[in-house]
Amino acid sequence: MLLGAATLVALSLALPHPSGGDTSVLIAIAAAMVATGLLCLAFFRRIPLPATHLVLAATAAATGLLIYESGVATGQFGSIFVWATLVSGYYFSRRVAAAHLVWLLAVYAVSLVTVESTAGYSPLTRWLFTALSLTVVMLLTNIVVAHRARADLRARRFFDLSHDMLSTMDQTGRCVEANEAWTHLLGYAAEDLQGTRLLDLTHPDDHRRAAAATVELFKGVESVGLETRVWARDGSLHWLSSDSVLAPDEGMVYTRSTDVTELKRIEAEREALLEDVEGLARSDALTGLPNRRALDEMLPREMARAQRGESPLSLAIIDLDHFKSYNDSHGHLAGDAFLRECAIAWDTELRGEDAVFRFGGEEFLVLLPERTIDPAGAIVERLRMATPRKRTCSAGLALWDSAETSEELLNRADAALYEAKAEGRDRLVNAV
Ligand code: GH3
Ligand code: MG
Ligand code: MG
Repeated sequence: MLLGAATLVALSLALPHPSGGDTSVLIAIAAAMVATGLLCLAFFRRIPLPATHLVLAATAAATGLLIYESGVATGQFGSIFVWATLVSGYYFSRRVAAAHLVWLLAVYAVSLVTVESTAGYSPLTRWLFTALSLTVVMLLTNIVVAHRARADLRARRFFDLSHDMLSTMDQTGRCVEANEAWTHLLGYAAEDLQGTRLLDLTHPDDHRRAAAATVELFKGVESVGLETRVWARDGSLHWLSSDSVLAPDEGMVYTRSTDVTELKRIEAEREALLEDVEGLARSDALTGLPNRRALDEMLPREMARAQRGESPLSLAIIDLDHFKSYNDSHGHLAGDAFLRECAIAWDTELRGEDAVFRFGGEEFLVLLPERTIDPAGAIVERLRMATPRKRTCSAGLALWDSAETSEELLNRADAALYEAKAEGRDRLVNAV
């Protein structure tokens, strides 16, 4: 108000007046503005003075000046006051708006008695009529605004009640609003987030996906789901699962995000555990070699591969000689240790895709893809030579004929092994 009055006086003194330079009326109005402004301030204590309030007063004063300078009568002042009442009723609480109205009516009263009227009514009648209509206007505006404010407040309470992180983002990617879940889950106060680019809180590896999702939304995709890593205020990284929709009328993106960090951790733990279990199910507990189950999965795969590539596939069964007596003389635990030594020795002897499995008991199976009988035989002989503690073993070797089943192939290798044993052990016999 003071600023408005000062502007009014300064401008009226500076500008040439159309009626010949009489500024006394103007100064009287400015003085009334200052006086009533101060009275209102004193009367309605604790009136906040936000920038809007001052801008409003200054604009009312400046417009009044322009109308006065253009030589128009008090009716125009009245329309300015209606306008100012509407705005103050809209922006301010009822108490502040009422103070504003009192000030405007005081100024209007001064203008009514000082500016010559063209209408027939007395200044008091006109003032009373104006006061009544402006009060009604102010009250109605205020009621409508209060109603909307209550609805906004209710929406805000629901907004803050959500356990999900809710946020809105403008077209530049800056956060406009965020609810209290952001504080509970990531430690950010809503005010800290306002104006922040949400992408700046996102892990750089997820930037491209996040930016692409936003582009999709603005292209017209109805909703976009996304999982990104976001930094909390304390520096910890959280996985957020988000759904976003675009409000095209506002150009605003509405997003609901859930913290799925714990879920992700449990999922990863479960996957690792599953992998471990699957590994355990396919490996032999004593030797660590792949077991019979692994062989049952691998053999049909290798057979199919050999068939596709029209390449050979050989297979040998190795059985330790007189292992029963080794157990008898050294004990079962020493027998176990010996089986482990064999597994290590033979496994390290093999190269590339050749693999040794524990077939059962003290029998081992060697799978030799891409090997015809002679190179396969040479490898099996090398393994037999690598048997620890100068012990011997027998082996039966078979080359897959590309027509037989895996069972038939195993049977042929087994029969060859039986023959090796029958022929006196410590030898390799090729299956027929
Ligand atoms: P050969 O094969 O030369 O005919 O004689 P062998 O004494 O090895 O006879 P066979 O193959 O029939 O005997 C298998 C023996 O292997 C019997 C069992 O005590 C022993 N054995 C099987 N599995 C294990 C094991 O996991 N640990 C130990 N220590 N011994 C085992
Ligand atoms: Mg045996
Ligand atoms: Mg044996």
